[in-house]
Parts: sequence; C-alpha cells; structure tokens
Amino acid sequence: MDTAPLLNIHDIRKSFRKPDGGELLVLDGIELTLREGEIVGLLGRSGSGKSTLLRLIAGLSAPAAGSVSYLGQTVTGPPAGIAMVFQSFALFPWLTVLENVQLGLEALGLAPDEIRRRAIEAIDLIGLDGFESAYPRELSGGMRQRVGFARALVVHPNILLMDEPFSALDVLTAETLRTDFLDLWSEGQLPIKGVILVTHNIEEAVLMCDRILVFGSNPGRILKEIKVELPHPRARLDPGFRDLVERIYVEMTVRSASEHAGKRVERFPGAGIGTILPPVSSTLLAGLLEAVAGPPYDGEADLPVIAAALHMEIDDLFPVAETLQMLRLAEVVGGDIRLTSEGRQFAGVDIDQRKRLFAQHLVTYVALAAHIRRVLDERPSHRAPWSRFADELEDYMSPDAAQQTLRAIIDLGRYAEVFAYDDHAHVFSLDNP
Ligand code: ADP
Ligand code: MG
Repeated sequence: MDTAPLLNIHDIRKSFRKPDGGELLVLDGIELTLREGEIVGLLGRSGSGKSTLLRLIAGLSAPAAGSVSYLGQTVTGPPAGIAMVFQSFALFPWLTVLENVQLGLEALGLAPDEIRRRAIEAIDLIGLDGFESAYPRELSGGMRQRVGFARALVVHPNILLMDEPFSALDVLTAETLRTDFLDLWSEGQLPIKGVILVTHNIEEAVLMCDRILVFGSNPGRILKEIKVELPHPRARLDPGFRDLVERIYVEMTVRSASEHAGKRVERFPGAGIGTILPPVSSTLLAGLLEAVAGPPYDGEADLPVIAAALHMEIDDLFPVAETLQMLRLAEVVGGDIRLTSEGRQFAGVDIDQRKRLFAQHLVTYVALAAHIRRVLDERPSHRAPWSRFADELEDYMSPDAAQQTLRAIIDLGRYAEVFAYDDHAHVFSLDNP
C-alpha cells in the first residue's frame, strides 16, 4: 500500500532579507509529502508563503534549511518532471495556441513530429480542439488559461504545481475549468501523477483536494492537515461539504485569534507598514458593520450566517471581517464577528461622523495610511506619485501584493478622506480630502 512518495519536504525554512538588513522569516518547519494519485491543497491567507513554497518545490529558489526531494533525489534546480500552472499566463501574443503549447516541449529535444503530436494531444485533452491556430488575443480568459494548462501538461510531468490557477477567472468559467480538470483527473486521463494546488479559497480546496494543509502566517507554517473524504463529484451544497467548509473556516479564525493572543497583541494585530492588505472595498466594510449592528444580530453574528444573509461567499466575507478587526471596529473569534463599542457607534451615526471615526481608526491602526498621510503633509507640494509608495512596499512584499495593498489603502483613504488619489495621474495628494 505504501508507495514511495513523489515528493518529500522536510523541515523547510526560508527567509528574505529586509531593507533594514534583518531577516523576514517566510516559511518555518514545513513538512509535506505528496504521494501518487493525490491532490494536496495548500490553503492560507495572502502572504502565508504558499507561492514561496511552490518555487522551492519547482527548484526555482533554494531553502535556507531543510530539504526538498523529488523521487528520492534532492532538488537543486528545476526538475524535468515538475510543471507549474500560474494564476495567469504570459502567452506569446505572436504565437498561435499550438505554437505556445509546443514551447513547453522545446527543451526536451524531441523530434518535430513528436512535438506536434504531443502538443495537439494536450490541446484536445484540455478542451481547446479547433483553436490550434488561434492567437491569444482571440481567446477568452478561460480559454487562455486552458492554454496555460496545456503548456504544463504537454511535458507529461509527474507533479503538477498550481498556484491559484482559477483566481483570475470569473465565477462560472473558473467552476467549469475546475470540474473539467477533476473529471479528467478522476478518469485517469491526465498525464500526471500528483498535484499540489495553492489556494486561498476554502471551498475550492474542499472541492478539489484529497488533503488540505492549512497555513498560518508570520512565519508561514502548517497549522493543520485536513483529509477530505467526500466522494467525487462533490457538491458545494451537500451538508457534508458545508460542514467541512465551516470547520476549516472556524479553524482558521480560531487560530489567527490565538496566534495574535500568543504574541501579546491581544485580538487586534494592527497593521505594520509591511502588512499585505486584502482587496476590500469601503462599501463592503460599511455594509457588514451595518448588517451586524442591526436586528436580529445586535452586534454579534455567526459569519457563515451573515455571509448567507448578504448573499456573499464566506471566502469573500473573511477579508472584510479581518479588515474590520484590523481597524478595531470588530473582533473575529471562532467563526463569530462581534462589533467593538466603536464599531457599534459607527453603525449608529451619520455619514460625516462615520468618516471622522473611520479616519481616526485608519491612521491609528494602519501604519501605511499614517505613513502616506505624513509624507503628503511634509511635502511642500502635498503630492507623491504611486511609485513612491509602491517601491517602498516592494521591500517587504512581492510587486503584486504591493499593488493590491496600495489599491486597498487608496480605497480606504478616500473613503475616510485622509488623502486623495488621482487615477489618471497616479498621484496621491491632499486635494479636497
Ligand atoms: P502567498 O503566496 O501565500 O500569498 P508568498 O509566498 O507570495 O505568499 O509571500 C510570503 C511572504 O514573503 C510575503 O510577506 C511576501 O511579501 C514575502 N516575499 C515573497 N517573495 C519575496 C521576495 N522576493 N523578497 C522579499 N519578500 C518576499
Ligand atoms: Mg501566492
């Protein structure tokens, strides 16, 4: 029964150098085994080190300590049997679908006939039959992502690594691609032996994975392993499915609360300058506050219940609740959201008072907001370009995360009238804040 694992990861540590010369520990004590026939999910919030771990597995970067071994061999560079699918693909616009897929094979030194045959096979398999000679610009987002899958599958990798491969697609397209992938996988049609799927979406993990490793942040580590024993095809509305989603959800909120308590910052972590902010709109923040403040909840609600009432997915509500917690307008514990006294106050006052309260909390608890305001106050022009803050954030986080964080703070800053931002000129200012 016990076959040798495809992949074995032991006690991995990884850190990055911070601008002040210190170390940012991103992964600590990671243990992971992938066996033949498994889809293993890495589930965690943005910044918990999931993409960093995939890069280590793919041999694109090296750990500070610990080992990655693929089929019993230590990984020191990209192994031929491991392929990756990303959130969105850089397809070459001047190449056709067929040519883009063939690119994946060029390094293997196969005969031209064989390259063509395998590329066409991968294209047919992934549902792109008939699009061989189309150019990327002629394809929808979902079709382009299929080309990405074909490009990874064409090498017949033993392990397929997927980094949030459905997250850039609209809801229906993403679901079609997930179920197509699962059908091919369970019918044994995919030329792969095991899959690691990175996601921040609890439902996606439960839908697709045999095992889920739940990640915590700061430093990124595995908090818990959860086996998913529901038979395929899995239905999102099935009570067993819902129960598991809720259990994982509670697990993640309980953990994050106790982690913060352990660090003696109580339930309110606040946000340092290097904190990645989730993409949450001020409209949603105000909407959730109002919903929880009103009847029948009266300041305290079960998050899954309130998600259903607001017609929102739990995964989408999570970051909104967390942002409220960061602003100390609410606390999130064990799957419940409870408004603080300021949170209750916010829901009961007029728009001007709301903005004042919100502004005060924003500059007090979110270091980036205070920093932007300070820079603008100090400059004689009271203006600063996007790049001024983007460059700074990129010392702490990836360019994508920096962009997401700046967009989030712009929305919050505008709502609170702490600063303004001109979308065309890409400039922060104190104009009519
Ligand atoms: P996830 O994929 O879970 O969102 P990442 O692995 O992308 O997380 O990032 C984990 C942490 O490591 C984040 O704090 C991120 O900002 C930081 N990080 C990632 N890549 C780099 C890098 N090249 N330099 C500095 N910090 C990085
Ligand atoms: Mg990532």
